[in-house]
Amino acid sequence: MGKIRVLDDQLANQIAAGEVVERPSSVVKELVENAVDAGSTAIDIVIEEGGLASIRVTDNGSGIEADDIETAFQRHATSKISSASDLFRIASLGFRGEALPSIAAVSRLTTVSSQESTGLGRRVVIEGGAVTANEPANAPQGTDMLVKDLFYNTPARLKYMKSIQTELGHISDYVNRIALAHPGIAFTLTHNGNTLLRTLGTGDRLQVIAAVYGSSAAKSMLPVEAETPDYEMRGYISKPEMTRANRNGMTTIVNGRYIRSFVLNQAIVQAYHTLLPINRFPLVVLELGMHPSLLDVNVHPSKMEVRFSKEAELKELVEQAVRAALRSERYIPGPESAA
Ligand code: ADP
Ligand code: MG
Repeated sequence: MGKIRVLDDQLANQIAAGEVVERPSSVVKELVENAVDAGSTAIDIVIEEGGLASIRVTDNGSGIEADDIETAFQRHATSKISSASDLFRIASLGFRGEALPSIAAVSRLTTVSSQESTGLGRRVVIEGGAVTANEPANAPQGTDMLVKDLFYNTPARLKYMKSIQTELGHISDYVNRIALAHPGIAFTLTHNGNTLLRTLGTGDRLQVIAAVYGSSAAKSMLPVEAETPDYEMRGYISKPEMTRANRNGMTTIVNGRYIRSFVLNQAIVQAYHTLLPINRFPLVVLELGMHPSLLDVNVHPSKMEVRFSKEAELKELVEQAVRAALRSERYIPGPESAA
């Protein structure tokens, strides 16, 4: 008899969790992305002790069908794609079907979800990947995910967690960015009872910028807009007077997803050219929309990096649009400032 065995699901999920759930902020990211995908207009995030004690994400989205809840926690279970061709036109934030089983494998998780506006839902409890309860529950429409004791059964991972303040910093950074990406959703972030962020969900991105960076920063922003047959771009850039010591104030959003893009950041900085002092960076919130086929998001489990199929063209568009915004305010001489 050979020595090779297929691992049981619980163990396989714990291994996958090592990739998907790096730290509390990864849990927040995955739960919030699910809430966004569910069409929520309000998402509340409540954190205790940097997320190490508990993480709760409550949304008013579509909810999960009672019969589907346990399935949602199985590996590679997703309602978002169904065929290989879907991989080339991903319109949702999730699609890998890995987040919930991974999170549930390394925590004590309770979910209450309801699809009915009448308030009849389902409550499922999973501890270390094993379902311990699945029962009817009263619930408003939407989904409530409570994740406690993250990494309680993976001591090696727990040991790598940093201070509460550091973990909270990662969470707060992510929530700020997803709120900037979705001004139409009302977000709240609460830590140990203190409200750290509140956005109104009115669709006004400047309100979110004010909530994240302060109202004086919001007043110093210039609008950016551009459109080509392939791309739609809009957002805000700071006037060259308001700069920061690093790139953390640069948020690029592609099809509703906050991504890290060296190429886009570089295009933006190049557009400012000599207007930026050396080693200073602008505050930027830039949203790009494009057909999903122009984009590969299946690069890394965290989906923070993407590949653009026409990278050079996109870079040029971004640089030109940022230049045009600066020119219209006469920071750069050009046709518009002659008027
Ligand atoms: P993915 O997001 O890649 O599909 P997940 O493991 O994150 O995988 O979630 C599995 C499925 O559970 C989703 O496809 C979705 O159908 C359902 N789901 C998860 N969270 C929510 C939510 N907050 N509201 C509605 N459905 C949800
Ligand atoms: Mg997901």
